[in-house]
Amino acid sequence: MAHLPQWVCRGPTKAEVNLANFRENVKTFRRIADDAGTLLMAVIKTNAYGHGLVPIAHAAIKAGADRLGVTTMEEGVLLRENDIDAPIHLLSPIIPEQAEDTVTYDLTASVSSCEQAKAIHTAAISQQKIVPVHLKVDTGLHRFGIAPEYALDFCRWCYHLSGLYWEGIYTHFSTANNKYRKTTEAQFTLLMDTITGLNDYGYHFPIRHAGASTIALRRPDMHLDMIRPGIALFGYTPDIQHQALTSIRPVMSLKSRILQVRSLPPGTPVGYGGSYITTERETLAVVPVGHGHGYKRALSNNGEVLIRGMRAAIVGEISLDQLIVRITHINGVSEGDEVVLIGEQGADEIFAREIAEHAQTIVDDVLSSLMERVYRVYK
Ligand SMILES: *Cc1c(COP(=O)(O)O)cnc(C)c1O
Repeated sequence: MAHLPQWVCRGPTKAEVNLANFRENVKTFRRIADDAGTLLMAVIKTNAYGHGLVPIAHAAIKAGADRLGVTTMEEGVLLRENDIDAPIHLLSPIIPEQAEDTVTYDLTASVSSCEQAKAIHTAAISQQKIVPVHLKVDTGLHRFGIAPEYALDFCRWCYHLSGLYWEGIYTHFSTANNKYRKTTEAQFTLLMDTITGLNDYGYHFPIRHAGASTIALRRPDMHLDMIRPGIALFGYTPDIQHQALTSIRPVMSLKSRILQVRSLPPGTPVGYGGSYITTERETLAVVPVGHGHGYKRALSNNGEVLIRGMRAAIVGEISLDQLIVRITHINGVSEGDEVVLIGEQGADEIFAREIAEHAQTIVDDVLSSLMERVYRVYK
């Protein structure tokens, strides 16, 4: 929506991104990285978990991130087009047709097959470059990566491709939280054994890395040469039990205003399908936020928002662009009043964690679902 003329008055629904909190969070990880002498990659994939890729990228670099991690080549190109010079890693494999652009824009690809290695090598040779790549090893997530038992064969076939510089090797754990400590330790050992095995045959990878948010916060013994926090930069630990152990702060607020106040008699069905029926004379407020903004539809008859510092329950089905809340118990509400869907108001707060629990999902999903069409304000 960047093309909207500046003078046009925007609607009330906006996401406020607290860049000061974000920078403090990055600095927390900068200190962790400095303590162990490792590199810091700020993972800002998926539109920076919904916070807006480009402004977050600039803030991350300014706060001390050495590198950035994204998922797609398109995200990487967007960053280059917006003057980001730091190394940018693509954490998902590219398709062969994207190899040329990957090389042109100096993006660091993750390689998990010979075909990918050869496509990038060919593009590098045609552009007379030697490009850094990182080998991805599958230690148990069973998503991308080469199987450890195939790593040596892979290197025999692909390590010496002259367009490639094997700058790094890495894995991504399947279950880094406390409950699965043993699984993570086994996966870490598998990575280390694989690296040692390759070193024995002369295949070296200077930057070894494994840890995302949880490992970065909790397991310095697994930091290796680089940490890769993502969601924690935005204020949330993947494991709820770790939240109180860190100083990281949420970055995103979602705010709107009441568009209409209604007083309805008992027995009135509300919203599509009439899944909520008033039990007494009730005062309801219409808020212009819906699942078309990326606000989870599972919060229908199930979530809460803040109005005048008090909680108001969502009643009825959430529509594409609106939801309805019950405000019978809140005095003096009028049209235009502020509604906080994520964030603080008065003495209360609703964080993405609470929404995730109501919607039976994870914080990453709640935040990264927020659509581009939600106007973002950077503070
Ligand atoms: C998403 C991702 C991360 C960051 O994970 P968080 O749990 O959000 O910190 C790190 N590494 C890879 C490969 C990823 O895909």
